Amino acid sequence: MDHTPSGLWIDGRAVAASTDQRVVVDNPATGAPMGSVPAAGKADVDRAVVAARRAFDGWRWTSANERAELLHEAAGRTIAAAPRLVDALIREQGKARPEQEEEVEWAATTLRYYAELARNNRGRVLPSGEPRTQLNLVLKEPYGVVGAIIPWNFPLLLLAWKLAPALAAGNTLVIKPSELTPLVTLQWIRSCFDHLPDGVVNVVTGTGAGAGEALVRHPDVPVIAMTGSVATGQRIATVAAPMMKHLHLELGGKDAFVIAPDASIDDSVEALAYAALFNAGQVCTSAERVYVPSAMHDAVVEAAAARADAIRVGDPAGEGIDMGPMAAQRFRDKVAAHIGDAKARGATVVTGGTVPKGLDDGYFYAPTVLSGVDHGMAVMTDETFGPVIPIMAYDHIDEAIAYVNDSPMGLGATLRSSDPALIKRFFDEVTVGTVWINDPLTDNYAGPFGGMKLTGGGRELGEEGLESFLQTKHVHWDLSPDVKDYWYPY
Ligand code: NAD
Repeated sequence: MDHTPSGLWIDGRAVAASTDQRVVVDNPATGAPMGSVPAAGKADVDRAVVAARRAFDGWRWTSANERAELLHEAAGRTIAAAPRLVDALIREQGKARPEQEEEVEWAATTLRYYAELARNNRGRVLPSGEPRTQLNLVLKEPYGVVGAIIPWNFPLLLLAWKLAPALAAGNTLVIKPSELTPLVTLQWIRSCFDHLPDGVVNVVTGTGAGAGEALVRHPDVPVIAMTGSVATGQRIATVAAPMMKHLHLELGGKDAFVIAPDASIDDSVEALAYAALFNAGQVCTSAERVYVPSAMHDAVVEAAAARADAIRVGDPAGEGIDMGPMAAQRFRDKVAAHIGDAKARGATVVTGGTVPKGLDDGYFYAPTVLSGVDHGMAVMTDETFGPVIPIMAYDHIDEAIAYVNDSPMGLGATLRSSDPALIKRFFDEVTVGTVWINDPLTDNYAGPFGGMKLTGGGRELGEEGLESFLQTKHVHWDLSPDVKDYWYPY
């Protein structure tokens, strides 16, 4: 096990933490420890924020063009480092290799997208009350130090969605990676961003309650951009509220996948398997509940079970693997608890529901299909975040839309259909931030991504993703200092 002694990245260099406590990281495919990082405390967070605050004074006044070139350089370094980063992600995070390769490529493209978008970032000039003598300007300014709190399921990509726009807008950052994936995060930042001025990007590793909450509480961190669970988002919102911090919260989902009566069963099941099993179902936009017309129910269940059985599960370090392990034992326990609850309430496990044969080490779970489910079961209401496909019948599309909206969360929803009237009705009526018609999970760099309801209202990607890291200032400028006739006395 590699106990790297100086795990924090502050002010452009690796530094030792103020504490001896460490977070051990294991390989989810084997369960074996593979390294450790410092469990940073308040003093370390203070140090990182001081560095980021100092760096902000210079970084905010660099030109957008200069920042763009530096972000392109980071993107180029990311692509050059991709083979090493992909291997590191496979060991630490556990997705299948093609999914890891996409993650690194998409992270690099996010850097390039925001490098270019920010070159055009602008405020506006307003019509003034006295057009000859007054100027009214709307300025878009960086906030200062952004606290970026990141989950483990896409440790580089979801960091890139914050890092790229925040930097392009002129902010500096202190990053708190997930305690499950700090090694690859440190590796990326240290190897691909060390050409930036010292202190512009800093990393403090550690726990959520320790380093994470110290960052949220820090008075010199006006923005907290966090992706994670609803419970953590609620905790952060509670802690940050008295300080009126600007919060971007990208929280959990319970995305629905609806097959319309006109859809092909076989093609829809191919889409469903991808939507539900990518990253072992550990995507915030994973298809977590499936609604199919009653007349198609049995055929969809049968086809989904056959598709799930054909998924090649194993250590993603090997060849020909479609699906790796879950990220930690506690997540596998939650999946087993949801399946146990569903069974106890009358659901049928059509396939899966177990640890796959021969994969007792690590945190593997078999792709699972459930039928006979309803909204009285946790698997249809709480985020499962695992490779589970629960399928429920509906009789009319009204019913399906009501099921989609019957959730406190509102991240995304997928519809399989080629019926324009039905499709329009669906996207008009569902209360989610992203609607996929026929092609689930697909993001667009220019398309804002985020949720409604308890998922939080933050938006990443697109112009909204840049706007999230800019604050607005209105300047009313009278070119003349003369006394006005509308001042006292009346
Ligand atoms: P998590 O909420 O457990 O942790 C997320 C991050 O928050 C981690 O870095 C953690 O250390 C930190 N944290 C925990 N407690 C904290 C506290 N009190 N103060 C400050 N920071 C704290 O989530 P996770 O298990 O890492 O990720 C999975 C969750 O993320 C799922 O719910 C998933 O749906 C959600 N997610 C959402 C999106 C989205 O864009 N909406 C994308 C990916 C994942």
